[in-house]
Amino acid sequence: MSELKQILGNKQNIEHFREAVRKGKVSHAYIIDGPEGIGKKTFAGYIAAALLCEKGIEEGPCMTCPSCVKADTHNHPDIIWVEHEKPTVLSIDEIRRQVIDTVDIIPFYGPFKIYIIKDAQLLNDNGQNALLKTLEEPPEYALFFLLTDNCDKLLDTVRSRCIKLRIEPLPKEVIIRELEKEGAEKALVEENAGISKGNLGLAKRLTDDEEKAALKNETIKALKNMSNLDALEIFQFSADLEREDGAEVLSYMRMWYRDVAMVKNQAGSGRLYFEKEKAVLKRQADQITPEGLGRIFDAIAEAGIRLDTFVKCEAVFEALFLKIREELRN
Ligand SMILES: [Zn+2]
Repeated sequence: MSELKQILGNKQNIEHFREAVRKGKVSHAYIIDGPEGIGKKTFAGYIAAALLCEKGIEEGPCMTCPSCVKADTHNHPDIIWVEHEKPTVLSIDEIRRQVIDTVDIIPFYGPFKIYIIKDAQLLNDNGQNALLKTLEEPPEYALFFLLTDNCDKLLDTVRSRCIKLRIEPLPKEVIIRELEKEGAEKALVEENAGISKGNLGLAKRLTDDEEKAALKNETIKALKNMSNLDALEIFQFSADLEREDGAEVLSYMRMWYRDVAMVKNQAGSGRLYFEKEKAVLKRQADQITPEGLGRIFDAIAEAGIRLDTFVKCEAVFEALFLKIREELRN
């Protein structure tokens, strides 16, 4: 009974399905959109269970009926979690085998047969076109949840067949409460809750996952010492970075300089991402002009664009750090 109970927030999205059931107008396909860790799988599992709950969706999922018990342990034959073997690919064969070839088999128990397709953005155009045929003429009982962290990667033709729901970020207090349950230190809880911007999965990983925490700490350490970093230290930091971590480092940098800007405008009290670094933020705010700060934000934005191209991650960060260091030293 553990996983289903963990649904937090998303009242509007839940109400969307209740209303659809009341009106007898449940659509066949939904895009469930939101960044990694925000709770797309939890939400899809919750709605699937609620739609199949023997007590109906108004009360469901009740957690106790046989349908809910099966749903909660991922053993419900009418809820199909579509898996992919390789981390970066959802192949057309996987879609054929798990979806297209089985969709004509009528549901075992309830009124719906629900396919939850994780990482739908990993499906290439051929795969999406194969799925599209099923989305265009689905059996009456079929329901598809396409989970994605990047809706733009889906073809227009696929998107136009689906209702798009965005998973809502959770309020900061809820994240704090959840992290406190795990016994993390208060200042860290505050900081990670802020950084996560309502993404509980991310907040938990920042708190529990050593690699994730190390990346954050290394980045903050570099940002704190920016004006004193020598070329070798910049080179080392950049060389150690994996390409997939680049976007995360940039997001810390955006938050850091946003804090510097807040402190500079004396607007930051109690609302900083990095509250416990306030003294350093203040020093940097005094060091830098508003124009310089503007140039730093531009440089971070440009680094984000370069990171999406074939420029080496190392080169992107070296250039960015040198540029920021120059602004701070002026
Ligand atoms: Zn139930």
